[in-house]
Amino acid sequence: MNENKMNIAVVGAGIAGLSAAWDLTQAGYTVTIYDRNDFPGGRMADVIVNGICTHSGASILFSFNKEMFDLVEELGLSDEVTSFGADFEMNCSDGSMEYPLRVTPSVPFMLAHKALGIGTKAKLTRLLPDIVKSGLMTDPCLMHTAKRFDDETMVDYITRVVSEEYLEKYLEPLFRAPWHWEPEDIGKAYVMSLMGHLVTSDQRTFKQGIGFLTRELASRLDVRLGTTVENVREIPEGGVTLRLSDNDGQRTINVDAVVMAIEGVYVTNVVEGLSQAETDFFDAVRYNPGARVYYGLKQRGVEDKRDWFTRSSPSKVSLFHVTDQDQIVPKGHVQPATIQAELIPELIAQIAEEGGQDRVESYIRDQIREYFPTIDEDVESIAEQWWDAMLPLWPMGYATKVADFLESQETSPKRILYCGDYLSQSHTGGACASGRGIARLLQRSVGEKAHEPSA
Ligand SMILES: Cc1cc2nc3c(=O)[nH]c(=O)nc-3n(C[C@H](O)[C@H](O)[C@H](O)COP(=O)(O)OP(=O)(O)OC[C@H]3O[C@@H](n4cnc5c(N)ncnc54)[C@H](O)[C@@H]3O)c2cc1C
Repeated sequence: MNENKMNIAVVGAGIAGLSAAWDLTQAGYTVTIYDRNDFPGGRMADVIVNGICTHSGASILFSFNKEMFDLVEELGLSDEVTSFGADFEMNCSDGSMEYPLRVTPSVPFMLAHKALGIGTKAKLTRLLPDIVKSGLMTDPCLMHTAKRFDDETMVDYITRVVSEEYLEKYLEPLFRAPWHWEPEDIGKAYVMSLMGHLVTSDQRTFKQGIGFLTRELASRLDVRLGTTVENVREIPEGGVTLRLSDNDGQRTINVDAVVMAIEGVYVTNVVEGLSQAETDFFDAVRYNPGARVYYGLKQRGVEDKRDWFTRSSPSKVSLFHVTDQDQIVPKGHVQPATIQAELIPELIAQIAEEGGQDRVESYIRDQIREYFPTIDEDVESIAEQWWDAMLPLWPMGYATKVADFLESQETSPKRILYCGDYLSQSHTGGACASGRGIARLLQRSVGEKAHEPSA
């Protein structure tokens, strides 16, 4: 084992920060992770709120998350992975009809699809060359690998190559229902970085909940929870100073290097002395806000279902997920029967405008009554979720900006390095790959620099 004693602070105990910290610790560095939350995992955690096991973000893992599943294997946790298969289905309504949706649809499924006309089905074949290109030329965990396709919005691309019908009835709900994105938020590069891989992937989680991996990593690392990093600054003598704040007050520490694994939209609030190019990049990072409500029911016996809604439907909720017996929770927790409701982006924007973030449920109770008429008698507990920064957006042009930023980080690395989903892909596999990539970069380059004599 490498006896390198370089001190590294990782800011952010999401999957990106934990993955980076794990690899650096394995390489012999002394690593401490700081997170302002009182739980590890960031947006990949199981958090029990009012007796309900909620997901702090992600619910499924894609089998193409290579770096993540390599890490799972390395940690000896492969037996803990379980698969939903490739063909689990949602029921989608556009206000006039109901039809099935699959994230990884097969050709026969699409050909038999009742919401798509013959013209659309015929034109779907026109996507085939791009599906092949996507599969061969891009990495689904590193969206910037699709930057050569960054020349069109998703809306223009899909309506040009296939049809508006395919966009509105099929693709839009896949992005909008779970992730609260409108198709206008997404560029062709994002689509190209995923579609060739999605068709061959299956969807997974951990038997003990989506947060199992981050909990395991945190238990093997030095993680300081409830600690906000208020300021990070490179010092001319070499090294980096961090100002921390926790229950004991404020303090300052010095380390040799820092991995910033926080949501990109917060970086400029924390890091001092950014170059103009870095400031321009971080100013261009955008996340959407998000809101979700879980209802814990008094009794079991509800029918399991997943109902999704398109933008043309009048629903205030884009997705209802009713689960009678959820076994995929941390050991020891007994999950009640639940209804999970995702709010539509328009309502989320209204709530943000009105400052209603702490009473999200009150905005949808009437809708829930329509969907589940006995809710008032049946509900036992409620867990509300609000994200100011839920998921990075990938508009046209962003893949190119990320590629340029990563290239400059790679070719002239500093003592403060950046990773996370906004630099890779809006999913856990991207964040993990980004964290592992930064650990390799740090070992290659900044590690050497840190051993140079101070000026
Ligand atoms: C609702 C939702 C649904 C999703 N669904 C899926 C899905 O099904 N599948 C999938 O793969 N992905 C999904 N994702 C995306 C996935 O959760 C994220 O891409 C991934 O978890 C991001 O990891 P990260 O480490 O980059 O960031 P995070 O997990 O956000 O970690 C950043 C950490 O930094 C901490 N932090 C921030 N500022 C400071 C500070 N100043 N001081 C100290 N700590 C700080 C935060 O508390 C946080 O813990 C979803 C996300 C959301 C929100």
